[in-house]
Amino acid sequence: MKSANFINGEWIQTREGERYGVINPADETLIEELNYGGGAEALAAVAAADQAFKEWAGQTVYQRANLLAELARAMRSHQEELARLLTCEVGKPVAESLGEVNGAADQYQWYAEEVKRSAGDVIPNRMADKRHLTIRHPVGPVAAISPWNFPLLLSARKLAPALAAGCTVVNRPASQAPLAQMRVFELMDEVGFPRGVVNLVVGSPAACSKVFVEDPRIKKISFTGSLEVGRELYQACAAQMKKISLELGGHSPFIVLPDMDVEEAAASAAFAKFRNMGQVCISPSRFLVPNAMKSAFEAAVVQAVSNLKIGNGLEAFTEVGPLFEARRLSATQAFVDDIRERGGKILWGGERPEGFGDGFFYTPTVATDLAPDSLILREEPFAPILPIIGYETVDEAVEIANNTPYGLAAYALTRNLSWTIRLAEELEAGMIGINDLAPAAAQCPFGGMKASGLGREGWRQGLEGYFETKYVSIGLSE
Ligand code: NAD
Repeated sequence: MKSANFINGEWIQTREGERYGVINPADETLIEELNYGGGAEALAAVAAADQAFKEWAGQTVYQRANLLAELARAMRSHQEELARLLTCEVGKPVAESLGEVNGAADQYQWYAEEVKRSAGDVIPNRMADKRHLTIRHPVGPVAAISPWNFPLLLSARKLAPALAAGCTVVNRPASQAPLAQMRVFELMDEVGFPRGVVNLVVGSPAACSKVFVEDPRIKKISFTGSLEVGRELYQACAAQMKKISLELGGHSPFIVLPDMDVEEAAASAAFAKFRNMGQVCISPSRFLVPNAMKSAFEAAVVQAVSNLKIGNGLEAFTEVGPLFEARRLSATQAFVDDIRERGGKILWGGERPEGFGDGFFYTPTVATDLAPDSLILREEPFAPILPIIGYETVDEAVEIANNTPYGLAAYALTRNLSWTIRLAEELEAGMIGINDLAPAAAQCPFGGMKASGLGREGWRQGLEGYFETKYVSIGLSE
């Protein structure tokens, strides 16, 4: 049985002998049974990362950057294979998987370039006999925990800047979908990352995170996942005074301004909502439209959504695949039932599609006239449901948009320059897409305000969390 633990340059069978099956969400078949692990493997990986740190940090940035660039090239030359693996374990259509593989490779490539420009400072001196400078020092071994919805991209957002900065890593992807990331680790091995620099463990989340939090050799945790788990880890890290960065959930508004064409807005809404079946942290989850436009928008959205082709993500015709797991199916149905119970209307979907026996398929769903206390308006949906809300004035739209504890992304459609500037300034979100429904990119900052997280990934800021600044003051003598 294949091992899911790459520690100190080797795939090791776990001591505890735990096994786990990775399931294909399109037909519920077993893709592969893996040998997992637990705290013992996490501990071994931490020891390996610690041992490798000094030498890795001592390499020049050019040496580290060359390896990262090699990895990006290797991923692109294996993109079809990696994309197929992603589709099999997560369910998203292959075209989306290819986008993810290249998006992840972009991270490694971009940080290979950016780290060469991350210099310290020479600070002008006030006293004639002193000189001041800053040196950038990697924080040390890092634990990178990521979820299942973008297994390659979300790990790459952490690993690329950490490795570029000179940190070694222990990566713990989600145990339900580790296969594509395991393949990336094989590529890391092939391109020549030294032993212990990159380690992978996929054992029990609680056992692994206990090691990451409590072992003093891990100097920073970088977590992407839910608010609930993020909060727990934040508290645990506080007790240890351990650095942590958090990429958490969202509840993103999508505002259609009154100057927009209804058909164009509806097509954009359907495109943006059902990427990876709504299981995207920056997925728009509240669609705000002017009351005067609402019924025309509803009809146009239903038209667009009813044309979406549902199927196995490996089929070329498929536009929307299955949900990731049975748990997502029941969570989606619970949101729909709650909408109906509180008097809201389901305009399309609201049930599983006919003719799909096995697999976690659900019909992309459109809802309107929701009660303000509907569950889907209070909790992060992570579901293929497009809820429509009418508004009277732009002031009211902004107020509804910001009425959430989250602040990850926000979207608006308008050609009006004044509204564009106003929304950019007033929306409480770390990422704002105006006429852009896919704003994430390696060269731009990614992260949230309010309860959506702490810190930013991507852009120069993505490197900051992996460096300590050392200030050195030198007194001159005759
Ligand atoms: P999750 O919090 O349940 O799991 C995330 C990761 O943490 C997984 O690897 C999981 O195995 C691990 N984990 C679970 N319990 C843990 C524990 N007690 N200690 C340590 N690790 C633990 O989230 P999920 O359901 O897998 O992913 C969906 C969530 O992730 C959504 O809330 C989504 O918005 C969020 N997300 C955020 C971003 C972002 O960049 N802001 C990106 C993608 C997903």
